[in-house]
Parts: sequence; C-alpha cells; structure tokens
Amino acid sequence: MRTTVGIIGGGPAGLLLARLLHRTGIDCVVLESRTRAYVEQRQRAGMLEQGTVDALRECGAADRLETEGLVHHGIELRFDRERHRIDFPVLTGGRTVTIYAQTEIVKDLVALQLTDGPPLLFEAEALAVENADEDRQSGPPAVRFVHEGREQVLTCDYVVGCDGFHGIARDAFPAAVSRTYTHDYPYSWLGILADVPPSCEELIYARGPGGFALHSMRSTSVSRLYLQVPNGTDTDDWPDDRIWDELDARFAIDGDWRLERGPITAKSVTPMRSHVHEPMRHGRLFLAGDAAHIVPPTGAKGLNLAVSDVRVLARGFAELHLTGSTRLLDAYSRLCLDRVWQATRFSYDMTTMLHERPDGDTFEDRLQLTRLRRITASRPAAAELAANYTGLPLAAAVHAPSRTGATDRPSR
Ligand SMILES: Cc1cc2nc3c(=O)[nH]c(=O)nc-3n(C[C@H](O)[C@H](O)[C@H](O)COP(=O)(O)OP(=O)(O)OC[C@H]3O[C@@H](n4cnc5c(N)ncnc54)[C@H](O)[C@@H]3O)c2cc1C
Repeated sequence: MRTTVGIIGGGPAGLLLARLLHRTGIDCVVLESRTRAYVEQRQRAGMLEQGTVDALRECGAADRLETEGLVHHGIELRFDRERHRIDFPVLTGGRTVTIYAQTEIVKDLVALQLTDGPPLLFEAEALAVENADEDRQSGPPAVRFVHEGREQVLTCDYVVGCDGFHGIARDAFPAAVSRTYTHDYPYSWLGILADVPPSCEELIYARGPGGFALHSMRSTSVSRLYLQVPNGTDTDDWPDDRIWDELDARFAIDGDWRLERGPITAKSVTPMRSHVHEPMRHGRLFLAGDAAHIVPPTGAKGLNLAVSDVRVLARGFAELHLTGSTRLLDAYSRLCLDRVWQATRFSYDMTTMLHERPDGDTFEDRLQLTRLRRITASRPAAAELAANYTGLPLAAAVHAPSRTGATDRPSR
C-alpha cells in the first residue's frame, strides 16, 4: 500500500485529520486497531471549544452537532455551600462552548469517511514506524501493520501518530531527541452515565465535603457525573445508591437545588495524569493528540488539544501541497507545544484547585479556597479562567498568508 500521509489511529485526531486532508485533495490512509463499534462507543469527552466546532464545520462533519449540540454560556463553581456563575460571553467578548459527546463526533466522522473518504481500516494494528528520519537513506517512511491476519506495509511520504497515549508511534522517536514530562495526581475520577435529564443547565464544578464532583451532560436526557475517588478505586465498591448519596453531599448548597437520580448505565474509574512528549515531530513522523500529550479532564482540554494539533497539521500539509512550502510543517512542534503547555498549566490549576488532597494538608486546603474566592470575586481572575476554558486562539503563524497570498482564518 502507498499513500501520501499514513495516519495511525482512528480516534478523533486521526479521523478529523483524514477529513481535513481529503478536503484539500491530499490522499491518506487511516489504520485503527479496534473495531468500528468499539471506537464509536468509547465514552470520553464532551465539551467542545469554539475552535473545535469550527474545525468540524470546516470539514462538513457538523450537521448533527448543529442540531443536537448544547451551547453553554458559562459554568458554575460550587464551594462553601454557595454557587457562583462564570459568564463566558461577558468575560471573553462573546465566546461559548458546546456540549456534544466525543462518541457522536467519532460516529459522524466515521460515517463520512466510509461514505466518500480515504481508506479507513478497522482492526488494523500498527506494529512500528520505520524510516522516519528526514534523510530517507533506508527508504521511504513506512508503517508495518497487521490486518486480516497478515502483516503488511503502508509506505508514505509522511506518518502521523494519532494513536493515543498507549500507541506505538512515539516509540519511533530516538531517545536522544525525546523528552517527556509527567505528573501523576493522587486521586482518580469515578465517572457515571445516567439516564436522567441533567439537574442543571450548565456544568457544575463542585468542591464539597469529601472532594471534587462534576455535573455535566451528554444530551437533554443523559447526565454525565464524576466524583473524586482514591487511586486504585474499584467500581464494585460503589453501588448506585452510594454514588448518588456522595454526589448529593458534594453538590449540597444552602438554597433550593435538587440532584435528580436515574438508572446508571455505565461506571468507570479514570486516573489523572499530565504528560507531554517533546518534540511532536521527528523527521517525517508527527504526533498529534493524546499520542503526544494528556491532561487531567478537569479543564476539558484533551479532545480540544487533539483537534487544534490536527488543524495546524492539516494546514501545514495543505500549504506544502499548494505552494511547496514546509514553513508550517517545520513550525508544527513549536506552535503546538506552546498551546499544549498552556492547556497543561490550566488543567493542573483547575485540578489542584478543586480536588481535596488525600494527605489532609490544611494549608493547601486554605489556599484552594482562597483561589476559588479570588476567581469569584475578581473580574480579571474570572476572565482568565473563562479565556482558558473556552479555548485560547491558534497561534497567529497558523493563519499567516501562504505564498499563494491566501489567508485562511476561521471564525472566532
Ligand atoms: C473520562 C474522560 C473524560 C474526558 N473529558 C474530556 C472533555 O470533556 N473534553 C476534552 O477535550 N477531552 C476530554 N477527555 C480527553 C479526550 O477524550 C482525549 O484527549 C481524546 O480522545 C484524544 O483523541 P485522540 O484521537 O488523540 O486519541 P484517542 O481517542 O485515544 O484515539 C487513539 C486511537 O488510536 C488507536 N490505536 C492505538 N494504538 C494503535 C495502533 N498500534 N494501531 C492502530 N491504532 C491504534 C486507538 O484504538 C484509538 O482509537 C476525556 C478523557 C477521559 C478519559
């Protein structure tokens, strides 16, 4: 098999990149190790920044998102039994976020890809990336993979590893050029899906007795809720009633509010980790999304970072295709890492501000409350949170005119 861009991983990053390349007339092949049903049902993100919505619109994958997505104008912070609203449009000059589940984005992108897109192979597991060095002395870049019981080779001009945190693309970076930065947090999230209409119109981030809780939603009839739990927690130790009782306690306020209960349809435990791999390019191999970086979900940045990486990459490939210039591809790692580290800092700040420390450090406890009070009392502090939450803009260099003179600025 031969293609221009070989993409490993059919998660949001790989599927969106394939769609954006297809629009520009650049051929590619996507290799996904799992089945279609598995990738379409994996419960994960749900909060989309404006730039993510723009990217899905740009590639014609937003029809269902336009009708089913829930536009949110703020979030609520809850602590000391009080509620405080952070109003995004007022604080950011009009920005909002959209709630639309990652499962639905993946379904929309898979359907488009299988209808008129470039090849997408399910149950095609990449084993290794070869010849990624720029000098190409040992031949063109290639991905060795197994599909339908046979080992095969996909030869490419470029390879993009969109294969998530546990993928293999990162392994092709020589140790001498790689650096990783990791931070493990001393708690996890117990997440549930429940067939009950959300008890709130916007997301609630609560710091209550026993720790953090988040109320979010997947639609007008399905709620998604999370509880801070110790690392190593087993979902078997959390029967449904215990989960609802704990959520009630952490969301409790002085005033009128009630958490509606309903049948729980899924439970899972997610450990919290920050991880950044530098650089995001080696020779003809690029990393995008969770393959290069992960953040704890408190800032809702993982999917949005994956999308912003592939937006930069797709523009870089388009510039190369249309003008022969590698300007943007050469700047890819630097441009993305600037944004990745901003999101890593924001996710760390949100996480450490809202979670109870298991060591019971009372000094830290007071500082956390002080940070929350500052945000709810000071407009600049609230504006800083709102700007980061709704998404920082892509670097200006991404929109710079190409040699054809065309500029390509997305809407805000
Ligand atoms: C509980 C939870 C809640 C979250 N909430 C949010 C949120 O609200 N907002 C947000 O922005 N982000 C959130 N995230 C993060 C978000 O889900 C991820 O950042 C996002 O899925 C990254 O997309 P990706 O395509 O880079 O990687 P992935 O979604 O991990 O996709 C990688 C794909 O590569 C495939 N693959 C792996 N290895 C191979 C191989 N060897 N060969 C071929 N294919 C391979 C995998 O099967 C997978 O389909 C959350 C994550 C979790 C766990």
